[in-house]
Amino acid sequence: MTKIGLEIHCQLTKLESKLFCSCKANYREFEPNQNICPICMGLPGSLPRLNQKAVESATSIAMALNCDTPEKIAFFRKNYFYPDLPKNFQITQLNVYGDMSVGGEGYVDVEGKKIRITRIQLEEDPGRLIYEGTSDRTKITLVDYNRAGTPLVEIVTEPDFENPRQVRVFLNILSDLLENLGVSEPGLEGAMRADGNVSIEGGNKVEIKNIGSFHDLEKALHFELTRQQSLSERGIDIIMETRHWDDRRKITISSRSKEEDQDYRYFLENDIPWVEINQETRDILKKNMPESISSKKERYVDKYDIAPQVADILSSDKYYSDLFENAHDDSNAKDIANLITTDLMGFVDTKEKRQNSKLTSQHLSDLINAMNSKTLTRTSSKIALQEIVKSGKSVKELLDEMDLGQVSDSSEIENIITQIFEDEKQAVIDAKERPETVNFLVGKVMQKTKGKADPVKTLELIKAKLS
Ligand SMILES: [Zn+2]
Repeated sequence: MTKIGLEIHCQLTKLESKLFCSCKANYREFEPNQNICPICMGLPGSLPRLNQKAVESATSIAMALNCDTPEKIAFFRKNYFYPDLPKNFQITQLNVYGDMSVGGEGYVDVEGKKIRITRIQLEEDPGRLIYEGTSDRTKITLVDYNRAGTPLVEIVTEPDFENPRQVRVFLNILSDLLENLGVSEPGLEGAMRADGNVSIEGGNKVEIKNIGSFHDLEKALHFELTRQQSLSERGIDIIMETRHWDDRRKITISSRSKEEDQDYRYFLENDIPWVEINQETRDILKKNMPESISSKKERYVDKYDIAPQVADILSSDKYYSDLFENAHDDSNAKDIANLITTDLMGFVDTKEKRQNSKLTSQHLSDLINAMNSKTLTRTSSKIALQEIVKSGKSVKELLDEMDLGQVSDSSEIENIITQIFEDEKQAVIDAKERPETVNFLVGKVMQKTKGKADPVKTLELIKAKLS
């Protein structure tokens, strides 16, 4: 049977400072090597000071992933030499004398299958190596330590995935969950990275490292499964090894043999005392956690009678659910939910569009009110919505400026209908014989009025004229 496990690294991008010093957690805005200090550079005599908020965020993640969280956590030094690691060790966690990492033994429900979470640990991100060209052919390698010491949460799963598709569904659930918790922005470049391990029936486990994005992870898993299957069919042993994903050629290539844990010479980081997270602290954290995606979804369906697919989209996307929560009241919740998931989605479907959007929740409730009071038709509201996203103008301003007001005046609509009946003689005959074709005529009226005619009244008037 195919077994896939994951190690996911997630930066706590919502924190102000790094894990052990006061340098900025948001290293992305700096010129190279400008977001560093003696602590994150590991200069002699410097001492780490643990970021309490990081411990709280990591514990919240553990709780949201149904993990056990221990009374006390400890940090370890993982010793290895690599140019992106200024101290020559990484401060991380290890469950060796009992459970001392922020969480363990959790699970995530993926389409009815329980994916077990082995453990969650808090650690520091290393710096970044920047190559001229590709890593295997570069003549120059540059090091940028701005990222060194950034708070990172590592989430390790059991090998419970049976195929790459399940992995993708899991990662989508996980990134929605992290965003909903308000601890990370998974969309930021490099904020979420994952390594995978893969084995097929009768074969050894192969780890795949160096995967830059979730999209590439799925490709790498597919490649690796196919490679292992073809070896197995030819009767060749699959050796236990670490392979690197070659982003350019889209293949995995064999790399150094994997270090065993003992090669890292783990030992307790004595510069950081054990951290107690007592029941009271955990209760407070639990109480302050935002409502979970599944609970939101349930509430939207039960309380507002929103369709389950709509509630699904709304609850899993923090941007939409925040808009919804601030815009709706008990009477218009369903309308606002539908407006977001039908019309708005197309206008804010990328991160850039969302950042540039001038839309507020007030706009949404104003739009729905205008539609419900028949000041705006649905078609016009879509035009208005697009304009609001661009300019941020109020619904009232747009009604005045853009001539979007709904045409409800019977004589005005009747005049247009008379005109259409002249132009579309065959359609009129058809509609008399087969009443279900009447929508063609309604459509013509809408076209002529640029969607502003009151659709209910239009249909009524056409039917009257046909009979
Ligand atoms: Zn620093």
